[in-house]
Amino acid sequence: MNNLCNLCPNNCNVNRENGVGFCGVNDKIKIAKYYLHPFEEPCISHKNGSGTIFFCGCSLKCVFCQNYELSRNLRGKEITVKELANIFKILENEGADNINLVTPTHYSTKIIEALSIYKPKIPVVYNTHGYENLEILQELNNFVDIYLPDIKFYDKKIAKRYCEKENYFEYASKAIEFMAKKPLVFNKNGKMLSGTIVRHLVLPLNIADSKKILDWFVGIKDNAYLNLMSQYTPFGNIEKLKELNRKISKREYDSVINYALSLGIEKMFYQQFESADKKYIPKWDY
Ligand code: SF4
Repeated sequence: MNNLCNLCPNNCNVNRENGVGFCGVNDKIKIAKYYLHPFEEPCISHKNGSGTIFFCGCSLKCVFCQNYELSRNLRGKEITVKELANIFKILENEGADNINLVTPTHYSTKIIEALSIYKPKIPVVYNTHGYENLEILQELNNFVDIYLPDIKFYDKKIAKRYCEKENYFEYASKAIEFMAKKPLVFNKNGKMLSGTIVRHLVLPLNIADSKKILDWFVGIKDNAYLNLMSQYTPFGNIEKLKELNRKISKREYDSVINYALSLGIEKMFYQQFESADKKYIPKWDY
């Protein structure tokens, strides 16, 4: 492999030893926090919490990003591959129910190196925005037990409006169809050991787009779980996007859930209709 980075569909073709591409980070790993995170799906956070590592930079950069400090401002601390492997060990020793790699795409080769040094005995979770290259996922697949991808937008114009990537769905849908081949396995206590949970954040005034996503999800509904998320909170660079300046209504959320049920989607998580707010954004450590 040459030194030019084409890890994700941005295909920047830059040398990250002396530059950065769209994700904004060089070839050093940078993280903002690691801890036992209690707010993932119940089968992921389970009893002790998910051993979550938040990576800095992002190869998607949605306008409404809640983790702006990390994704754009790159607030964090550089660590080596060996230190990352050691963090896996620390979280495992603290009793983490899994190792949860948040926004890992642009570090995927480094993550493979770290998991080659130390593969925890607990499941490894790849928690991604979904904008992934299939070839890289194939390389990662032996190291990952659980996929936690977002599926954000269906329509090209909406994807362009919110993240400047018209081809988002094209890449994310293929990536998730690949991920959904992981066998679904839970232990007797309901903890997830293997499989895929697809997350979709319902956005205000975008219910038609959510329904197109559900039509697509039907094709993988027997092999993957769906999490319909209601907690959209206006945040980030959205002044010019008027529709994003409010939370979703209960009616909008119910309409999406009812549509999912009408399509026979049974493997589904949905939330109490209460909007999470900024209190669910962790305090960053660095
Ligand atoms: S990982 Fe970063 S530098 Fe590499 S192709 Fe993606 S956005 Fe560009």
